[in-house]
Amino acid sequence: MIDYQNILSSITSNCVSIKDKGKIATYIPELANINASKFGIYLVDTHKNSFHSGDAQELFSIQSISKVLTLAQALGMVGEAIWKRVDVEPSGDPFNHLSLLEFEDGIPRNPLINAGALVIADILVSNLKNPKKDFLQYVRRLANDETINYDSTVAASEKKTGFKNYAAANLLKSYSNLENDVETVLDFYFHQCSLAMTCKQLTQAFYLFMNHGKCQQGITHLTIGQVKRINALMLTCGFYDEAGEFAFKVGLPGKSGVGGGIVAVLPGKYCIATWSPGLNKKGNSKLGMKALEEFTTATEQSIF
Ligand code: GLN
Repeated sequence: MIDYQNILSSITSNCVSIKDKGKIATYIPELANINASKFGIYLVDTHKNSFHSGDAQELFSIQSISKVLTLAQALGMVGEAIWKRVDVEPSGDPFNHLSLLEFEDGIPRNPLINAGALVIADILVSNLKNPKKDFLQYVRRLANDETINYDSTVAASEKKTGFKNYAAANLLKSYSNLENDVETVLDFYFHQCSLAMTCKQLTQAFYLFMNHGKCQQGITHLTIGQVKRINALMLTCGFYDEAGEFAFKVGLPGKSGVGGGIVAVLPGKYCIATWSPGLNKKGNSKLGMKALEEFTTATEQSIF
C-alpha cells in the first residue's frame, strides 16, 4: 500500500521551503491580493479515502479549471454536436492567444483555451434556463457541496480588465460562432472563472473524471466515452503551451488555472488537487507542477 499521507506531507514541506514560488497573476487585479506562500494539496481515492496537507481547505479562485466543468455540463447536455463549433487539438499557444482563431475561421483549437471556453459558455447560455444559477448548481451537485459559490468581486475585477476576452468574444461573434450577446457570454464566463473552491472541493467535483462518469454519490453524469474525451483534452490541452511538459513530468490528465490551482486524475485510482498561487512563465502554478511531478515520481503511478 502506498502511504499517500506521508508523501503529501513531505512534498508540502519541500515546496514551502522553496524561495522562488513564481509570480502571482496580476492582470486580474483582485487576484494580486493573494498571499504567495499559500500551499495546499488534497487527494481522494476511489475508495473515498482522503489525504491532505497544507492549505488544502482554503478557498481560492479556480479560474480556468472551471473550463473542464462547463465542458462536462455542455457535453452532457448537448452531446457530440459541440465539436462542430470547437476543435480538439492542442494550440501550442498561451491560453489567451487569438491569432489561430483568425486563421481557422473562428473555430477555437480546443475548449480549454479562452476562445474555446467562450464557445462552451455560449452553448450553456443557450441551453440553460438560468445559466449562472444552473451551472453553479451543477458544480455543487458534482461536489456534493452546497456552499460552493462565485466570488462576485473577482468576476467584476476580471470584467474591468478582460480586454483580451472581449476581443476573443467579438472575433467569435464576427465568425458567427457565438449565438448570444458578447456581454451575456462574458458575464457567464467571468463568473465561472470566479468560482471559489478549496483543493478538497476540487477533488470532489473532479471525482467523476477518475470514476467513469460517476460522482462520489454514485450518480452518473457522463458516459464512459464522454469522460474519455474530457480526460484526453485535459492531457493534451489542459496546460496550454505547457501541456507537453506536464504530460512529460507528471503523466496525468489535469487542468490549471491562473489562481494557482491544478487538479489532476489517475483514472480508476485517485483525484488530486494542488494550490500555490505563484505561476511560471506559461501561467501554470510553479510549485503545483513541481508537487505533482514529485507525487507521481514517488508513487510510481501515472497513466503511462
Ligand atoms: N479568467 C482567466 C482569463 O480568462 C482564466 C485564465 C486561466 O486561468 N488560465 O484570462
